[in-house]
Order: sequence, then C-alpha cells, then structure tokens
Amino acid sequence: MSRVFNFSAGPAMLPQAVLEKAQQEILDWQGSGTSVMEMSHRGKEFMSIATQAETDLRELMGISDEYAVLFLQGGASSQFAAVPLNLSGNEKTADYINTGAWSKKAIAEAKRYCDVNVAASSEDSKFSTVPAQDDWQLNPDAAYVHYTPNETIGGVEFSFIPDSGNVPLVADMSSTILSRPVDVSRYGVIYAGAQKNIGPAGLTVVIVRKDLMGQPLANTPTMFNYQVQAENGSMYNTPPTYSWYLAGLVFAWIKEQGGLAKMGEINKRKADHLYAAIDDSGFYANPVELVSRSWMNVPFTLANPELDTVFLQESREEGLTTLKGHRSVGGMRASIYNAMPEEGVNTLVAFMAEFERRHG
Ligand code: PMP
Repeated sequence: MSRVFNFSAGPAMLPQAVLEKAQQEILDWQGSGTSVMEMSHRGKEFMSIATQAETDLRELMGISDEYAVLFLQGGASSQFAAVPLNLSGNEKTADYINTGAWSKKAIAEAKRYCDVNVAASSEDSKFSTVPAQDDWQLNPDAAYVHYTPNETIGGVEFSFIPDSGNVPLVADMSSTILSRPVDVSRYGVIYAGAQKNIGPAGLTVVIVRKDLMGQPLANTPTMFNYQVQAENGSMYNTPPTYSWYLAGLVFAWIKEQGGLAKMGEINKRKADHLYAAIDDSGFYANPVELVSRSWMNVPFTLANPELDTVFLQESREEGLTTLKGHRSVGGMRASIYNAMPEEGVNTLVAFMAEFERRHG
C-alpha cells in the first residue's frame, strides 16, 4: 500500500496514526464488542467518546466554561444561516468583512435574515489583501461582526484578530482552526466544518459564548438553535457519531504532537518553505500580499497556463495529488493542513523545481 500526499482543500488528509487507530478499533471499540458506528449515541461508551473529544478540544484551544462547544451537522454553510438566526436579535443588523468567496457566501445567506453592512472589502484588490482595520466602517450598534480568518480559495489569511470593541466577533475558522494557538476569549462565536483540520466531513464544530445564546429569531429551526443544542449536549437528534469519534482521535493526536504551539511551528515552516520556492522561482507566482498569505492554502500559477495539465499529470505520477486550483481561480492550490507531513511539502517543492528545470 502506498499513500499519496493529498493536497486537497477538503475533505483533506487525516493523520495516518489516526486512521490506523480507527482501523484497529473498527470492529471492536475497546472491548465493547461493537463498532463506534453501531453504538447508541446515548450509551455510556459513546458518551465517554463525546465527552473526551470535547475535553481535549477545550484543552487544545484553551476554551473556558464561558463557552459552549457544539458538535453539529450541516457544515459551515449551515452556520452562515445559524449565526444571524441566533445572534442578530433586536438589532437585526450585522457587520461583515468581505475577503473572498467564502465571505461572500456568508454575506449572501445572512441577508436572508438581517440587514448586512459590508464594513470592509478587499474586492478591489481581487481579494489579494486583507482590508486594513483602520478603514473598516463598523457599526457600533451591530449585533455582531463576521469575518473569515482564512479564505480557502483565495489563500488569504488575517495576520491579526480584528478589534470589534463590545460587538461580538464571529469567525468562520473552517480552514484555519487548530493550525496554531488562538485566543478564543476574543470571540463571540467560532465555527468550522470539520473536513480540513478536525476530522471527516459531516461534523461542524461551533464554539459559542454562552451569553449570546437564548435570543434566537422566532423562526429559527430547532436544529439551528444554539441554546437547544447546548442544553442537549449536541444530541437534540442523532449526532454524526463516527465523525465525532474521529475528531476526538485527531484532537488526541494533536495533543501528542505537542499541541497548537507545536502545530503552529510546523505549519509556519511548511508554508514558508513553499512560498520561498514560489517566490525564488521565475516560473511560479502567488498574488497575495506577504503578510496575508495563508499558512493552510497556497494557490500558485505557472508562467505558462498551458502547462497546467502537464503539471497536474506529472505531479500525480509522483504521488502528489489534488493540486488543481479552484475552478474560479485556476492554476494550482496546495492545501497543507496539520495532517500534511513536512515530507509532503518537501517532495512538492522538489517536484516544482524539477518541473521548472524541464519546462521553464
Ligand atoms: N467556509 C470556508 C472558509 C470553507 O473553506 C468552506 C468549505 N471549503 C466552507 C465555509 C463551507 O463548508 P461546508 O462544506 O462544511 O459547508
């Protein structure tokens, strides 16, 4: 068996040690005689899995008791609706920062439920920058400020946590959560689809400050109601049990690696190496301003786009897969989440140099 280095933006690679542990436990979880997939979500075995996963995530991210941690379904896309439904309250107006494709989707969905003020946008720079905070037109009466710390498609990442004053800050952390330490206390809500740095698709993690729950809009679907989900331990209905279990294995793996500080160190090294290879070549290019380059998603173009297909084919033959850029952007994109080993990035960089030598 040979595993490839998979640069997919998500579902993305999982740590091999996690997959092996899941394989070991698949038929008989810890002497229970049953697979996790076959367990009642309310039985004591699964409850212990669920609780441990939450405890480990709280420890990794330093999440205090002021916050509820929810393990939901529906993807980050459902949170585009859940956030305004739960938070827009009497103000019924919210500030959004537009830094690319995912911000735009969040904005479009929020407009169905509240008045959206786009307080800043980097559309003029073709989303190659993050708007300087000094220029943001924040509304002090907004119910919340929403932003996308890492734009998965554009490869643009905030190098700072925005200052939203007393207005709760909401972050779609889908493609950056767990990539480095983060000060959770600066946020009202953090949400993330799991299929990048947390675990398999099907699970969505929502971290919500408890005082922000309990005032949903009247038409909020019960499944989207944060307070109902918190009161029911994310088990108002049957939760995505196997994804939750695998997420727990990933959290334990990150702890074993040395936690988020260590992850951040490794991720920075991987990203620096890849960007240096792009910048030092006369053949590859990345359009994003230096301070806002993503550590997780690295888009790049070839000097001659006619070589894109050859690049993809030859890289695949080297065991480097899913490098095709998003259809809206073209070129290539290497997603290098926590589970991408340094060896994967080193192999890609060596391949890129060799490809340039032959075709550049
Ligand atoms: N936000 C961001 C930043 C994303 O990268 C994605 C998925 N690529 C989404 C939202 C949508 O996530 P989901 O597919 O879980 O709804």
